[in-house]
Amino acid sequence: MIVITGNTTPEEQIQDIILAIEKEGLQVHLSRGNDRTVIGLIGTVEPKLAEHLRQMKGVENVVKISKSYKLASRDFHPEDTVISIKGVNIGGGELVVMGGPCAVESAEQIDEIAGLVKAAGGQVLRGGAFKPRTGPYSFQGVGVEGLIMMAEAGKKHDLLTITEVMTPEYVDICAEYADILQVGTRNMQNFDLLRKLGTCGKPVLLKRGFSATYDELLNAAEYILAGGNPNVMLCERGIRTFETYTRNTLDLTAIPVLKDLSHLPVISDPSHGTGRRELVEPMTKASVAAGADGLIIEMHTDPDNSMTGDGVQSLFPDQFAGLLQDLEKLAPIVGKTFSTKRAPLIHQN
Ligand code: PEP
Ligand code: MN
Repeated sequence: MIVITGNTTPEEQIQDIILAIEKEGLQVHLSRGNDRTVIGLIGTVEPKLAEHLRQMKGVENVVKISKSYKLASRDFHPEDTVISIKGVNIGGGELVVMGGPCAVESAEQIDEIAGLVKAAGGQVLRGGAFKPRTGPYSFQGVGVEGLIMMAEAGKKHDLLTITEVMTPEYVDICAEYADILQVGTRNMQNFDLLRKLGTCGKPVLLKRGFSATYDELLNAAEYILAGGNPNVMLCERGIRTFETYTRNTLDLTAIPVLKDLSHLPVISDPSHGTGRRELVEPMTKASVAAGADGLIIEMHTDPDNSMTGDGVQSLFPDQFAGLLQDLEKLAPIVGKTFSTKRAPLIHQN
């Protein structure tokens, strides 16, 4: 349930409402917007309390929310969430491009690719140190060493970093080295992992499970939010359909739907969403047109010899750079900003 108050409601009245809710043993989630303040109630609301709140001074409306997720919903939090990391704002109107290889392969490889991501105008370096492979005999990633290589490359080239974490035990070490932690499609409903990410202190990019509904994705996000971490991005990375021409079907509809249901930033992954290099450019542009707040795109200097099978969907560096040039022109048409000339990251001690 949510209690809505007007923008002129005095602070004492808001505090009285909060007190009345907390007295009944419920949790409060406060969202202050320009036009109104929304007080979200977490827990079971007795009809008597709802009636009492309705009568209180300053209350404009009391609305029952039937969705199973609360903190992730736009009802609870009408304004867009903006995640600020070292001066990069995700979800605030500036497009964010995360680029890099599927996997960190060596210090030289990630360093070279980081330089290219930076030169092209990307803000975030992607790369997996722990890889969730379908078969147990495939390359599983270089592990903790990879985290260190990536952190160094990010630092040297002034990029944020994002890497996948697969198990709760590795959350702390990944959080130590990376700026953003990625939950892969296969782990979207790994609830122990999601709970641990609720307290990791770093923003999380949560990929949609390849067979998950929007509701399931938002409930997965709710686990992280309910654990105390407000910095969650949702990522559409393609779903399983009957079509075999593409690796997955990038569900573009997910972008406006998730933006409508939730206040969390939405990122599109046209690389895994299509599995084909030639489709990454059009689907990147389509994602931006559909309202994505950012992109996560695979790029490799030698895709034919990449250590995962994802070379076929990885852009060559010049394609990546050309695409970002195009985004600079496209972004303003859809009300976003994007510049390939980046201001340096803001580091705080
Ligand atoms: C990846 O980003 O390299 C990856 C494994 O993604 P997904 O979980 O979407 O398959
Ligand atoms: Mn990949």
